[in-house]
Amino acid sequence: AALYQIDGWGPPYFSVNSSGNISVRPYGKDTLPHQEIDLLKVVKKVSDPKSMGGLGLQLPLIVRFPDVLKNRLESLHSAFDFAIQVQCYHSHYQGVYPVKCNQDRFVVEDIVKFGYPFRFGLEAGSKPELLLAISCLCKGNPEALLVCNGFKDAEFISLALISRKLALDTIVVLEQEEELDLAIDLSRRLSVRPVFGLRAKLRTMHSGHFGSTSGEKGKFGLTTTQILRVVKKLGSVGMLDCLQLLHFHIGSQIPSTDLLIDAVAEAAQIYCELVRLGARMRILDIGGGLGIDYDGSKSTTSDISVGYTLEQYADSVVRAVRVVCDSKGVNHPVICSESGRAIVSHHSILIFETVSASVASTPVVSSMGLQYLLEGLTEEGRGDYADLYAAAIRGEYETCLFYADQLKQRCVDQFKDGSLDIEQLAAVDGLYDLVSKSLGVADPVRTYHVNLSIFTSIPDFWGIGQLFPIIPIHRLDQRPVVRGILSDLTCDSDGKIDKFIGGNLSLLLHELEGENGGRIGGGGDGRYYLGMFLGGAYEEALGGLHNLFGRPSLARVTQSDGPYSFAVTRAVPGLSCADVLRVMQHEPELMFQSLKHRAEECVHEEEVTASLANGLARSFHNTPYLMVGPSCSVAAANNA
Ligand code: PLP
Repeated sequence: AALYQIDGWGPPYFSVNSSGNISVRPYGKDTLPHQEIDLLKVVKKVSDPKSMGGLGLQLPLIVRFPDVLKNRLESLHSAFDFAIQVQCYHSHYQGVYPVKCNQDRFVVEDIVKFGYPFRFGLEAGSKPELLLAISCLCKGNPEALLVCNGFKDAEFISLALISRKLALDTIVVLEQEEELDLAIDLSRRLSVRPVFGLRAKLRTMHSGHFGSTSGEKGKFGLTTTQILRVVKKLGSVGMLDCLQLLHFHIGSQIPSTDLLIDAVAEAAQIYCELVRLGARMRILDIGGGLGIDYDGSKSTTSDISVGYTLEQYADSVVRAVRVVCDSKGVNHPVICSESGRAIVSHHSILIFETVSASVASTPVVSSMGLQYLLEGLTEEGRGDYADLYAAAIRGEYETCLFYADQLKQRCVDQFKDGSLDIEQLAAVDGLYDLVSKSLGVADPVRTYHVNLSIFTSIPDFWGIGQLFPIIPIHRLDQRPVVRGILSDLTCDSDGKIDKFIGGNLSLLLHELEGENGGRIGGGGDGRYYLGMFLGGAYEEALGGLHNLFGRPSLARVTQSDGPYSFAVTRAVPGLSCADVLRVMQHEPELMFQSLKHRAEECVHEEEVTASLANGLARSFHNTPYLMVGPSCSVAAANNA
């Protein structure tokens, strides 16, 4: 566990059990030992057709733990409740979940359900997000907020206003001054008394990667001058009472409470000024930014860590608001936050499998091969070889490497001009590897090929270099002896993970087991499963379809007191080949029909044609990922 820093990023949800497997603690620190869930058992169960009514899920697989989600919401809420009580704050905390972090229907529905006792609401930043938020919140707590952020057109604003008619507490947050006239006009036409919020551009700057939305030049929000113009305009049309919320968002992953306090205090001053100017303010919405400690380092200077706990975050916010409001004699506002990352990150784990590893190179060069090589060398080449040999006798190994390198380069040139054959080229490679290995300069890092698309499942690694904890989910009682990087299925050199938490350029991994080096078709159970943790926010929403690898399979797993300590409450296969083709406007049904027709034209035996058609149908139906494991070889054989 220490090798993978699990004690840093894992608690309170992840630890290693006595079998050496990752254990999920669904209720965080309140989990009792018998309630812990062995992640490997979950993977085995959901991928086994026998225990899933014939529908074993293919990997890659996202395992969701709604109990963890619930625990995150409760923990966030109780952190604020505690701070509010201790500091005698005279209002309450009421969060909203920004659906952009993960719009999956069941994630959003769970949040609305689990958040009911806390009046937890939703935040939407586009029209489809608003549509899903409206329909989910109709089943939520009637006091929950629906915060509408983002750039808006007439339709977006109308939709928000209509939702007020549906008795939702929807707030249109003005991100741009131009939205105001449109909103006033539409509210009159629809006869709805709107509730407005303002997004302020704070002067406080978040300098980390995620902070580019902050500061006066940030993408969103109103400047001080614009805020004053909006207030004046609302006053002039008798709608200043409609302005009830002040919002800011200085960026995700706020690294320290110092920065947080600065931003909240600045926003609280603006809030008090709006009260002074006559707005009927009731909510201070501090946006997102509550961070996750992905590497467990508790650093205040890294993009992937944060230097505070949930409790310290809540305490800092409540204190900053209270101090400013008290000094201005303003009633304490409802504190709203739009925490996304901090709510959904922990509850989803991406599980994927290694399918092979590059073999540690054992240099091979036989004396016959060497002799044959020497016969083909030019004079200079033979000279290099003689110098290499002499340096070896003298024990000057650095010099050996120099001549080996020079010789290899000469041989490549000779191969290119056709004067060396492929066996001779292999012999010089073997000689070079032998020299580097004996000098200890051979690259010890091996490549583990994983049945995954990084572009689909870990897009932030590719896009912004974000690191997540990636570790084996089993064999953690065995010392890993290989340094490896992970290479995915896509035909793209960016499709690899070669940076890991802790600043490592490789990951300590176990040797693959089973026949054939644990490779596909190796049989037995030499399967090696890796998990990417803390990736429940943003990764699924941002993932693309590069090489047409689609969304992984999904399993929803809850704690249960049965023999396994878990129950699979939902199992959804990943996108099929037909599904991903459809996304790019292909028509798999038509494609199948024309391929079948072609088979009938080319092959004139009915039985063969039928079996070809059968195979084609299966290929459309099956996963784009590699089908690994015993049940898959049966499927593939049926295909053939
Ligand atoms: N609110 C707004 C306006 C955002 O832009 C974002 C994301 O950047 C969030 C909330 C969610 O932030 P986080 O995931 O840091 O909680």
